[in-house]
Amino acid sequence: MNHFDVIIVGAGPAGSFAAERLARAGVRVALVDGRPPGEPKACGGGVTSKALKAWPHLLEAVGRTIDEIDMYSPSGKHLHLKLDEPFAVYSRITFDTFLRERARAAGEVVISDKVSARGFKRVDHSLSIGSSLDPLGIGRGTDASWLVRTQSGGEFSAKYLVGADGANSAIAKKLAGPLPPTEMEVAFGYRAPLPELGGAATVVAFLPKWVGYAWAFPRVDHVSFGIATTQDAFDHEQLDKLLWDFMVSYYESVSTASDSERIRMRLWRTAVSKTHRSQIENLRQKAERYAARIPGLAPRTWDTRKASGDGWALLGDAAGFADPVTGEGIYYALRSAELFADAYLKAKPEEYEELWRKDFGGELKRASEMRRRFYGNFWGAPFTDRMIEFARGHRGIRKVLGQLVAGDQGYVDLKKKLAKSALRPL
Ligand SMILES: Cc1cc2nc3c(=O)[nH]c(=O)nc-3n(C[C@H](O)[C@H](O)[C@H](O)COP(=O)(O)OP(=O)(O)OC[C@H]3O[C@@H](n4cnc5c(N)ncnc54)[C@H](O)[C@@H]3O)c2cc1C
Repeated sequence: MNHFDVIIVGAGPAGSFAAERLARAGVRVALVDGRPPGEPKACGGGVTSKALKAWPHLLEAVGRTIDEIDMYSPSGKHLHLKLDEPFAVYSRITFDTFLRERARAAGEVVISDKVSARGFKRVDHSLSIGSSLDPLGIGRGTDASWLVRTQSGGEFSAKYLVGADGANSAIAKKLAGPLPPTEMEVAFGYRAPLPELGGAATVVAFLPKWVGYAWAFPRVDHVSFGIATTQDAFDHEQLDKLLWDFMVSYYESVSTASDSERIRMRLWRTAVSKTHRSQIENLRQKAERYAARIPGLAPRTWDTRKASGDGWALLGDAAGFADPVTGEGIYYALRSAELFADAYLKAKPEEYEELWRKDFGGELKRASEMRRRFYGNFWGAPFTDRMIEFARGHRGIRKVLGQLVAGDQGYVDLKKKLAKSALRPL
C-alpha cells in the first residue's frame, strides 16, 4: 500500500496543473491516469489569450499561435477578425504531456493506470483495507483515508481525493451526483491533414438551425475540425453531413486563395455536386474521427452543485467547469486547479468552494443564462447572424467580439459593453 497526502485521478490539464503546484510545495501526490499512450483527448485544443497571459509558460508547449480568425454566421455572412491578443492551438497529446512532465519534474508520482468506477472508497484505518466496505457508505473516523484501486490491482491511499477525471467523471457521479443529459453538450470531429496549398485559416462557423458551431483549428501538423452542440437535440447523421460539407469548403477556399486574399467558404450548401462528393470520399480516407462530451450546466445547477466536500474536491470538467456557450474548458480546468491547490496549501481546502464561485462561478452561470439567447433569435434573425452583421460594420463591436474570443471579455457585462460600443462613432 502506497500512502500519499493527495490522490488526483485524471492527468488532463486540471489534474496535472494541481499536481505540479502541490508537489512543488512538498505535498506527496499520486497522479493517476488510464489514457493509453498516444491517444489524445478529444478537443479543439484552443487556449485563450486570457490563459496564456495568466500562465505564460504554456507558450513553451509546441503549438500554433492564432492572431486572425474567420467567422461565419448561420446564413453564411463572413467576418474576418484580427485579434489584438492571439490565442494558441495545441495538439492535446503535446499539451497534456507538457503539463504532465512538469508535474513529474516537480516530484509527484505519476501512475499510468485506470481507476475503475468502483475503485475508490473511504476507509477508516481501524478497519482493514480490502475488507468489503460499502463504497463511500461508511462514516468517517478521525483517521479516515481514501483508498483507490487501479484496474491492474495497484492500491493507494490518501487523506484527500481529487477528481480531475473529465466530463464523465465517476468520482463526480458518486460524490456530487450525476448530471442530466440536458446538462451535457456533445462535440465530435475529425483530425485531418493541413491543406497542401494556401494558408491554414482558423474558422468558427455558427450552425444553421442548430445550437452550436463548427470549427477548423489548424495545429502544427494537422487541422482539428469539429462541431459542438447540445446532447438532447443531437442528430448525428445530419450534423456529420454538415461537418463534411464544412471541411470540404474549407479545403476549397484555402487552396484557391492567393496570399493576399481570403476566399469565403461556401457554407451549408444544399445542392451537392459530383466533385464535392468525391472530395468528401478522398478526405474520408485520411481523416481520423473523435467525439466526447462537454459539461454545460444549467443556470440553477451553478447555485446548487458542489465541487468539494469533506476530504474531496472536483476540478475542471469533472466539476462541470466549462463555458456553456462555447464549450471552452481548458482555462477553467487550469484555474480551478490553481484555486484548489492554493486553498489546500493554506491548509484550508474547504475554502475552494467559495473561491471558484467568486472567481469564475458567476461568469459561467451568466454564460449559461445567455446561452439560449446567444443561439436564439434577435430582431427576427439568429442572434449570431446579427452579431456578425453588426461587427462587420462597426469597429467597436468587432473589438468586443475579439475580446470575447480572447477570453478577456466576460458575459456579465457583455450586453453593456456591446451597447456602449454600438453608440460610439464607427
Ligand atoms: C471535441 C471537443 C473540443 C473541445 N475544444 C476545446 C477548445 O478548443 N478549447 C477549450 O478550452 N476547451 C475545449 N474543450 C473542452 C476541454 O477539452 C475540456 O474542458 C478540458 O479538457 C478539461 O480538462 P480536465 O483536465 O478537466 O479533463 P480532461 O482533459 O478530460 O482530462 C481527464 C483525464 O482523466 C483521465 N481519466 C478519466 N477517467 C479516469 C479513470 N477512471 N482513471 C484514471 N484516469 C481517468 C482521462 O484519461 C483524462 O486524461 C473541448 C471538448 C471537446 C469534447
